[in-house]
Amino acid sequence: AAEFVIEGLKATIEGKEILKGFNLQMKGGEVHAIMGPNGTGKSTLASSLMGHPKYEVTEGTVTLEGEDVLEMSVDERARAGLFLAMQYPSEIAGVTNSDFLRSAINARREEGSEISLIKFIRQMEGKMKDLEMNPEFMHRYLNEGFSGGEKKRNEILQMLLLEPKIVILDEIDSGLDIDALRVVAQGVNAMRSEDRGFLVITHYQRLLNYIKPDFVHIMMQGRIVKSGGPELAERLEADGYEWVKEELGIED
Ligand code: ADP
Ligand code: MG
Ligand code: MG
Repeated sequence: AAEFVIEGLKATIEGKEILKGFNLQMKGGEVHAIMGPNGTGKSTLASSLMGHPKYEVTEGTVTLEGEDVLEMSVDERARAGLFLAMQYPSEIAGVTNSDFLRSAINARREEGSEISLIKFIRQMEGKMKDLEMNPEFMHRYLNEGFSGGEKKRNEILQMLLLEPKIVILDEIDSGLDIDALRVVAQGVNAMRSEDRGFLVITHYQRLLNYIKPDFVHIMMQGRIVKSGGPELAERLEADGYEWVKEELGIED
């Protein structure tokens, strides 16, 4: 099963330290939710794990099945099975969605075993149907002019086709109406398996009614300050974050 271990991770952006000793251990089959106030470093964590060049990791280790992730290039991380559905997916003019997806799939395969065009199209059509996406999105430029909800569905489409080992969802629920949320969550739940772990970053407990987490972690000021089960998310929804700060003596 995919074991993913983050230890003492520190990361800076433009010289400012955002991640301040982040620890997390995940196993295949598990869903971990990370909740935390705005600006606490949740997206920084996601981007640092994927190797985004803007973020500099200054301390700590990250391993996937024992392999050193921080040593890997962005492409190598994807090939190793890491996947991030971004909070703000990028638009890429001139690259169609299907071209992008096919090359992403092929980049993860051995040379000579690329997916055939027919097979790829069949798979893509099937998954788009599951996500209730209009087939025209296949031929649109990647994310260009997509609405917020369409971008999120498209991130999930990528996840379904790439079959990663560790899935990081960064506020996949933001900008989704309740029907879209249900469709997206169904896509995620269909992918749950013993050899795949999920890190679900969200502001709102609502998403966790649809994607049920095994563990909930509260992140503040660049690290996890409290961990528990789904009841923790419910408490946050009801009472906000103040009580956590008081309980742990955290100052703003
Ligand atoms: P969250 O996802 O928890 O809302 P972020 O990781 O997006 O938090 O941001 C954490 C902190 O890092 C914030 O103070 C934010 O302003 C800062 N930050 C994020 N991205 C950048 C950037 N590109 N340049 C400068 N500061 C940034
Ligand atoms: Mg934010
Ligand atoms: Mg964020």
